[in-house]
Amino acid sequence: MALSASGSNNGNSPMEYGWQQVRAAKRVVIKIGSNLLTAGGEGLRQSWVNARANEVMRLRQAGKQVIIVTSGAVAAGAPLLGLQRPPASLREKQAAAAAGQPLVMRCYEQAFAAHGVAVGQVLITRADVENRRRYLNARDTLWTLSSLGLVPVVNENDTVMVEEIQFGDNDTLSANVADLVAADLLILLSDVDGFFDADPRHNPLAKPLPLVERVTPALEKLAGGVGSAVGRGGMATKLKAAKMAARRGCQTVLTNGFRPDPVTELFSRPVGTLFLADGNPLSAHKAWIANARWSKGEILVDAGAARALQKGGSLLAKGVVEVRGRFARGDAVLCLDPHGQAIAKGSVNYQASDLQLIRGQHSSAFESILGFAGDAEVIHRDNLVLLEETSAAETTAALS
Ligand code: GLU
Repeated sequence: MALSASGSNNGNSPMEYGWQQVRAAKRVVIKIGSNLLTAGGEGLRQSWVNARANEVMRLRQAGKQVIIVTSGAVAAGAPLLGLQRPPASLREKQAAAAAGQPLVMRCYEQAFAAHGVAVGQVLITRADVENRRRYLNARDTLWTLSSLGLVPVVNENDTVMVEEIQFGDNDTLSANVADLVAADLLILLSDVDGFFDADPRHNPLAKPLPLVERVTPALEKLAGGVGSAVGRGGMATKLKAAKMAARRGCQTVLTNGFRPDPVTELFSRPVGTLFLADGNPLSAHKAWIANARWSKGEILVDAGAARALQKGGSLLAKGVVEVRGRFARGDAVLCLDPHGQAIAKGSVNYQASDLQLIRGQHSSAFESILGFAGDAEVIHRDNLVLLEETSAAETTAALS
């Protein structure tokens, strides 16, 4: 049932409603950060993973499906490289991940073997979610593993990544996985108590926000940069993950994995920070465009076209002012309003060089200009996702 982010549901406050949804979740993605697994980079902590496996088994007994997204490959593998410092270059990190990933899996494998349950390793690259067919394949594998009773354990395939095409952090990866499997709850287990109203490293009065109804630019600004030496995520990536999950109708809870029973605890009482799911989630297709696809270029549109897009219309060539970047038909591009603000993202029907020729024109002129009659729309509304518009008022509300 839909809930307006600022409204209430059946008389419940957004906070009560959100936690009800959390407790009712059927498909849960749990993201485990490197610091939890390795206690700051000093070897994998089997006992901690065993305890999490116990918790996962309890959720499964309660009829929930659980998918784990784990970090820790680089952290676990780094000591094996014989370097006197953390791996620095991409190649060193890949080598560390190659050495560490089997150790991470062995840890989970042992933890679940105690319950007679097998784990299945799924290593995903950014390209696997960008490509629709591979995206569906990855989804099917995760579903199949789960339905056969195994626990899927996902990580980024760090060994083959290159910088331009990496998720880069497992917070983003976990949101993509939540999106893939249509999870209704994403749990981010981290070494912090939640999302703070100020940077706790600089402000001793900073306290965790119990509820974030909507991820706003002000919160994104607050989130700042990256976290620890062994993990790549930070508050910014956690916020990004929560925003991606919210679009898809998935609640996110950020909680401290060093607490006793941090997973089962959140099914019994509010803890950490709850990021509410959007009241009007995107369809799987639109969420894929919004969350998984790279933007290959930008289309600057005029004020009229910007208004039409905001009202749910398609993008027509008439309203295209400028074309930036090199993209092919079918690629994802961003639409910018006359102020340069990205307002929408969609799969484009024309390659950049063709769009360059037809911009500002009516579709009746396309054939004489291009030599073929293409689609009437540059981006059809079914393939277009609006990026949230934000106002100063909403931003302040979210912070108060
Ligand atoms: N995939 C990386 C690893 O397993 C972790 C990325 C992250 O820390 O978010 O080491």
